Amino acid sequence: MGRKPPTNFAMPPVLRSKLVAPDFVPIFQEEYRVLRPRAPMPPISVRFRRFTSLNTTIRLREGQIFVSLSDLLEGAPESVIRAIAHILLAKLYKKSIEPVHNARYKRFAASAAVTRQTELIRGARGRKRYFGPEGRFYHLEEVFESLNQRFFGGLMGRPELTWSEHHARRSLGHYDAAHNTIVVSRVFDRPSSPRYAIEYLLFHEMLHLKHPVRMRGLRRCVHSREFKAEERQFPQLKEAMAFIKRL
Ligand SMILES: [Zn+2]
Repeated sequence: MGRKPPTNFAMPPVLRSKLVAPDFVPIFQEEYRVLRPRAPMPPISVRFRRFTSLNTTIRLREGQIFVSLSDLLEGAPESVIRAIAHILLAKLYKKSIEPVHNARYKRFAASAAVTRQTELIRGARGRKRYFGPEGRFYHLEEVFESLNQRFFGGLMGRPELTWSEHHARRSLGHYDAAHNTIVVSRVFDRPSSPRYAIEYLLFHEMLHLKHPVRMRGLRRCVHSREFKAEERQFPQLKEAMAFIKRL
């Protein structure tokens, strides 16, 4: 099933496609209104780009505002996005930056979690190695395509799929949005591991692609109600959970 030869490869250092962030546009519009109460509202587009730092850019071109936010900000609280919107727009229109926004952004940037995530992603982008989808017993692309047919009508675009380097038990699988890659622990790649276990794990990660992290107020919503309802459609959910518990 569409086997790709490389079993050992690093992600190419190209910028991944930009993600549009329509949810953030109203925040920019509101901050624009605060800074320029009477000026006409220009069209604003906000996108995420893969940056290895918290870089953000703002440009005014032919009456339109283009904002690029680091994808490290994808899960940031709304107050932080608002602070960034204010700072960028104030710079663009040469207005003074409100200290409260400045402080909020600086606090966020300095917070341990962000620092760690920045380091992790920087490290991952610099030297992360991927081990490819072909295991000793299971081929992740084959499992993905069969789940794609069964649960997604074959419509889900296939991300990079790779086995983890080690037989990790703490992280059994995760979807790395920055690299559009699903990583699955090698503990599932052995004959004692039933097919429904790897299927369940991959299915869960595929649902993360289908239901991206959303903001509910100030909270990140990772496993939404819709996510969980869809997850329950997996026929051997109980067996898979029991198997994972025993690992
Ligand atoms: Zn999850």
